[in-house]
Amino acid sequence: MEQDIIIAIDGYSSSGKSSMARSLARAIGYRYIDSGAMYRAVTLYAMRHGLIDAEHNVDTKALIDSLPDINIDFEIIGGRQSTILNGEDVEDEIRQLPVSNNVSPVAAIPEVRHMLVTLQQACGAKKGIVMDGRDIGTTVFPNAELKVFVNAPAETRAKRRMLELRAKGQDVTFDEILSNVKQRDFIDENRAESPLRRAEDAIDFDNSNMSIEEQDKALLNLFYNKVNK
Ligand code: C5P
Repeated sequence: MEQDIIIAIDGYSSSGKSSMARSLARAIGYRYIDSGAMYRAVTLYAMRHGLIDAEHNVDTKALIDSLPDINIDFEIIGGRQSTILNGEDVEDEIRQLPVSNNVSPVAAIPEVRHMLVTLQQACGAKKGIVMDGRDIGTTVFPNAELKVFVNAPAETRAKRRMLELRAKGQDVTFDEILSNVKQRDFIDENRAESPLRRAEDAIDFDNSNMSIEEQDKALLNLFYNKVNK
């Protein structure tokens, strides 16, 4: 049997990387870790504790002081992987627009990143993992055996995100989603601490014109090409 590897899937907001990473992990029997969910959980904690104001300004010092009180885990609940914040299932809440609108400033705080990168690296200690995010191939696992960088135009990503949120019953407009996607891209690419970058050895993956089945198949092929070399 081939050796287990680490697979890093990075890309822009709403590029479909989480769905791709989840399907690949399921198909090959690897563990899937959504690093964005960790940043979202820290953001939800900060919002609930009044550490972010209406203009998305974060009380950075208070949040850094609170980091030891934040415990994040993943559990399978009702057949799906849920994000657990201090013992509570917050999977649905962290996907909503108020969290999306606050997450990038929180994710730009170096101390938050250090804590979560350490947690992410611990998840990959035994390999056999697919992790998706923004800096997985560059910072979290620079030696990952397979790195994929997923991209599609902002309008395509916003449309997908809008349909996904509407399917979940959220009342959102295309314009507000597009503006959130663009704003997160900008903050993620321009922050000082591990900005969103394509790793030099990552494979570019533009899924704009692919169906879900096509993108899953293409990713699975990349995996088999890598492990059967
Ligand atoms: O992937 P998702 O859109 O859920 O991530 C939410 C946010 O978390 C991103 O917009 C980004 O600001 C941050 N993030 C990050 N580094 C990661 C994963 C997510 O900065 N590895």
